[in-house]
Amino acid sequence: MTMSAPFTLSGTAIPQNARLMLDQICEHFIEHANVSRMDDVVVMKNDEATAEIRLSGEQLLIDLACPSDQALQMTRIMLAEHMFYFAGEEPLDLQWSAPAPLGPLSNLHHVTVTGAEDITPHMRRVRVACADVSPFLDGNMHVRVLIPPRYRTPVWPGVRDDGRIAWPEGEDEITVRVYTIRKVDVQAGELWIDFFQHPMPGVSTPGADFARDAQPGDRIALLGPGGGGRPEALSLLLIGDETALPAILRILEELPEAATAEAIIEVMNADEEQPVSSKGDITLRWLHRETAGTTNALRTAAQEAIAASAPDRYIWIACEKEDIRMLRPLLKTKEREKGRSYLAWYWERT
Ligand SMILES: Cc1cc2nc3c(=O)[nH]c(=O)nc-3n(C[C@H](O)[C@H](O)[C@H](O)COP(=O)(O)OP(=O)(O)OC[C@H]3O[C@@H](n4cnc5c(N)ncnc54)[C@H](O)[C@@H]3O)c2cc1C
Repeated sequence: MTMSAPFTLSGTAIPQNARLMLDQICEHFIEHANVSRMDDVVVMKNDEATAEIRLSGEQLLIDLACPSDQALQMTRIMLAEHMFYFAGEEPLDLQWSAPAPLGPLSNLHHVTVTGAEDITPHMRRVRVACADVSPFLDGNMHVRVLIPPRYRTPVWPGVRDDGRIAWPEGEDEITVRVYTIRKVDVQAGELWIDFFQHPMPGVSTPGADFARDAQPGDRIALLGPGGGGRPEALSLLLIGDETALPAILRILEELPEAATAEAIIEVMNADEEQPVSSKGDITLRWLHRETAGTTNALRTAAQEAIAASAPDRYIWIACEKEDIRMLRPLLKTKEREKGRSYLAWYWERT
């Protein structure tokens, strides 16, 4: 393959079962990139990277090419993390043609809490100051929020030789949870994150608790952004619960005038509804868990709305894992084009 992007890196992976891992990579990344496979060669492309992975005997030979060094380092980490995830308990030897740069991760942003407030009874907004908000302006909306232990000098993650993230351990262990950047306030140099408060008696909820206790001056870090963002489509159906609400409201607020969107959002009750303004033509339908009389109100409403949607309408869904598992097959129809949907579970009932 010709690697035309200027920043390149190669690697060799020796998993227990190289062919199986190639299959797993293909199956997983088909949701996130343009993936093509010719026999034992897989090529994955997106705006930030081209990755070619070739099966050669018991090995996987990897070639990465990216438009920037930062994208290259991020792609290495992402691929290494996934390969070790797919390997599970089995051994995996992964080596690269060049070591990872020393120092902090290039997409790690140190931020300081400037304020926190309840915007509804169960949604708490935390505002953080960030030296450079520009990476959060386009495309990707999600971050890993890194919460260091209180009363210790934070130790932030780096990169291991095999490309994976080296997380601090023991007393320096960091809590990591995924959240959405609700808004980028360029003038104030601030990012807003809305944390759903889902207290559970006797269960620790470190992400929600951080927001509940956040004080101006608290230092945390954000890793990202990544994980998908605003769909480009002009006709959208957005479905989700409180965890998806920050993303849905941001998508609606940033719609162009020509866009039409319908949003179905499940919250506890009417007190949890939030106002939204948009240039697009939008319709909001709030479902109230407290009065729905069924635990499956969101799932049922989603099924009906998907069935009534034209195949070219972009469908975006984020909610609990089991609901996503039930809804996924509905989008795998012959008429619906690949790349016209986003389905992600944002939390898991335990
Ligand atoms: C891409 C992405 C973006 C996200 N964006 C946001 C966001 O902007 N705002 C937001 O609030 N959340 C968001 N989430 C969801 C959030 O990461 C999870 O809810 C996370 O589990 C919260 O961490 P925690 O430490 O509070 O609870 P955990 O320690 O993860 O879980 C503790 C217990 O709480 C339960 N639990 C977790 N979430 C919920 C819930 N929503 N309702 C009921 N019980 C729950 C779990 O089942 C578990 O029993 C996002 C997730 C993803 C993947």
